[in-house]
Amino acid sequence: MIDRYSRQILFSEIGEAGQKKLGKSSVAIIGCGALGTVIATALVRAGVGRVRIIDRDFIEYHNLQRQVIFDEEDIKAGLPKAIAAERHLKKVNSTIEIEGIVADVNYANIERLVAGADLILDGLDNMETRLLINDVSLKNKIPWVYGGAISSSGMTMNIIPGETACFRCFWASPAVSGALTCDTAGVISPAPLIIGALQSAEALKILTGAAEVNHDLIIVDVWHGDFSHLKLSKRADCPSCHGKYEFLGAKFGTRATSLCGQNSVQVLNPEAGEVSLAKLAKRLNSVGEVSYNEFMLRLQVDGREMVVFPDGRAIVKDTNDEALARGLYAKYIGN
Ligand SMILES: [Zn+2]
Repeated sequence: MIDRYSRQILFSEIGEAGQKKLGKSSVAIIGCGALGTVIATALVRAGVGRVRIIDRDFIEYHNLQRQVIFDEEDIKAGLPKAIAAERHLKKVNSTIEIEGIVADVNYANIERLVAGADLILDGLDNMETRLLINDVSLKNKIPWVYGGAISSSGMTMNIIPGETACFRCFWASPAVSGALTCDTAGVISPAPLIIGALQSAEALKILTGAAEVNHDLIIVDVWHGDFSHLKLSKRADCPSCHGKYEFLGAKFGTRATSLCGQNSVQVLNPEAGEVSLAKLAKRLNSVGEVSYNEFMLRLQVDGREMVVFPDGRAIVKDTNDEALARGLYAKYIGN
């Protein structure tokens, strides 16, 4: 136990006392792409007692360039990211609790998913879920660490309820929205690697109660070598800071969402309940090519590929057309 963490305990800001605090801490990592894989591996190795990893997606070849714990075997096995992350990280540290959850984080389940967490970490690629995290954080007084990366740059900030500005205070500011736009700029791996590393360092500080917790928006560009801090203050008319949790109140919920930069659309079906993939496969065998495992079912039909999860959710690939995706879902999956 002590030997495993000896180099970290030698670091005087953590020490034995800090290590004990980490061991008793619980974190929820929402999104396990480039940022989430970096954060998860850092915190699992650091000995955070309970690490919950939540992600809605499965692994594809274009993820391997920057999502550092996945490999080709995971793709061949048809694994969702949360399951592959759990399997890999349990081999790294068997002395802590690691839980992978395959789910789309939404207004209906977020409070349950982050229950008991001392800290929430953002490994997401979309604004809507970040605003949802922001609401749940302020409402339940759980700090969260925002992070985003695109192209060669990224940014991160801690949102500490009652202390710092919240995400909604500044998300419309030009400095932030530029980097948050879902566009076709691509991304090089050092950008999310450094942002994920900064998020992990802030997590260690927050969980051990360190004095030097960052209160600024940090902006990094790895290609140009820029590193800057921006001071942000609370916005007087911020709804979230005044207890109006509009995102948690489901006012922005949608049924079909185009996934940022992935050329695919996710279709949600809250009424579906638990879907038997075996039964669904039997029914769909006559309409198209079907394969499935316990985590997901793939259907090739009408020249499209659709992936269905046991919670009734589906991802339709190679399209950004939400109406088309909803139509395919209604036609083949239904209720
Ligand atoms: Zn605010």
